[in-house]
Amino acid sequence: MVADRALRTLGRALRGRIETDAAARARVAGDGSHLRGAPLARVVPADADDVVALVRWARRHRIGLVPRGAGTSLDGESVPADGTVVVDLGPWDRILEISASGRWARVQPGVVNGRLQEAVAPLGLFYPPNPGSWRTSTIGGNVGTNASGPRSFRYGATRRWIRAVEVVLGTGERLRLGSRAEKRSVGPDLLGLLVGSEGTLGIVTEVTVRLAPIPPVRWGLVVPLPARVRLGRVATALAAAPATGLAAVEYLDAYSAAGLAAARGAGWGRRGALLLLEVEADRVAEARARVARIRTVLRRVGVAAAVRRFPGANRLWDLRGESGRVMDERLGERIREDVAVPPDRLDGMLAAVRGIARAERVPLHTFAHLGEGSLHPNLVVDPASPRAERIRAALYAAALDRDGTISGEHGVGRLKRSHLAREIGPVGIRLLRAVRQACDPDGILNPGKLYPP
Ligand SMILES: Cc1cc2nc3c(=O)[nH]c(=O)nc-3n(C[C@H](O)[C@H](O)[C@H](O)COP(=O)(O)OP(=O)(O)OC[C@H]3O[C@@H](n4cnc5c(N)ncnc54)[C@H](O)[C@@H]3O)c2cc1C
Repeated sequence: MVADRALRTLGRALRGRIETDAAARARVAGDGSHLRGAPLARVVPADADDVVALVRWARRHRIGLVPRGAGTSLDGESVPADGTVVVDLGPWDRILEISASGRWARVQPGVVNGRLQEAVAPLGLFYPPNPGSWRTSTIGGNVGTNASGPRSFRYGATRRWIRAVEVVLGTGERLRLGSRAEKRSVGPDLLGLLVGSEGTLGIVTEVTVRLAPIPPVRWGLVVPLPARVRLGRVATALAAAPATGLAAVEYLDAYSAAGLAAARGAGWGRRGALLLLEVEADRVAEARARVARIRTVLRRVGVAAAVRRFPGANRLWDLRGESGRVMDERLGERIREDVAVPPDRLDGMLAAVRGIARAERVPLHTFAHLGEGSLHPNLVVDPASPRAERIRAALYAAALDRDGTISGEHGVGRLKRSHLAREIGPVGIRLLRAVRQACDPDGILNPGKLYPP
């Protein structure tokens, strides 16, 4: 076979590890979605020069390369197309340099988000994007999907926190994008373009992230919600209220909250839907005043329940991140969606989501980054079925009708690529393809993702 012959030449081109046995290939065949691929091999390049050699080899043989971090993406972003080679950067997990005074860290792409957090915490610093997968997903993968997390309500998504990357393009050229400067104005943002490109423009070999000072007081709060609350009003009221110090505004429906309490001993102490909040302050007295303000705002929108402190803000986000896994255990295969709308359109969107679930007669459980209007409706249906495809299309239409998006944070991957044109239009697709053509003229990087078929 042509591919076998090509693989034999790879051994001469590459100094790193090449694994072609079934077990190694199976380990990198999937991601957090139901999709699976059949790669030819898993390779771990020795260094950036080796990545260059790998890309040149791939161009010569027209074999696709699929960059991979921890493989936790949820729409098939890191699922290899059949007959491609997975470039596993997970083992590239060294923290190279930390500057406390400059508030940055230079890391290899396989460094796990949570390990970076642990390394910089003793210096009084943190890395703000904290996806639910922060204990497992890598900085390279977070760059690949422009990941965000609960703290993105205040701090924004990954794109804002990347100062520079070193990358090998699909042409085989090496490039540094960005700088250590606090701000730059040098034309269009090429670095920003790479963030969220799902491994289709280049293979990131090094990342310099920005860090932020840990606030002196950081409180996790849990607020039980009444059954008939209008979540959109809650989200917009909290976002508009001054001086609350809110860093995160998260929502768990009754099913997710109860599931977490039962499975992980969350100890929320009550059945029903919950708001999970994080408040930052300089002093305890200021935090107390901020909580009082939040309570007043919530009362105005019909939430009169007590606001309870939850011990350990990070533990709160660990638990929140577990909601997906608990649903995995309880519900198994399902649609795990990720649509977002402007927060003032949340109530209409939630009604539309419920309507879709009712019309299709499927159970629905939703958790959300509420403050940003970013929803994760989970619908219990075979995700590979035509019915699932119909449901996805209806959800995306409902989000786009409200000036929203088909992906708030997970990305496009394989599952959403045929829907992308509805959001960015034919001109947007043409521009995307032109960027891809410039960076990866042979389309060898992560084929079958992001760009519509
Ligand atoms: C339980 C759970 C909770 C989650 N919660 C969140 C959440 O709150 N917010 C959120 O945004 N996402 C969330 N996710 C989705 C996922 O964790 C993120 O998309 C994450 O950024 C993927 O990181 P990874 O290391 O697993 O990357 P992978 O899945 O390995 O790769 C993701 C993409 O990045 C590309 N890539 C990886 N490394 C490189 C590299 N070095 N160079 C170029 N491209 C590369 C890949 O090709 C792929 O397209 C969650 C997933 C799970 C399973």
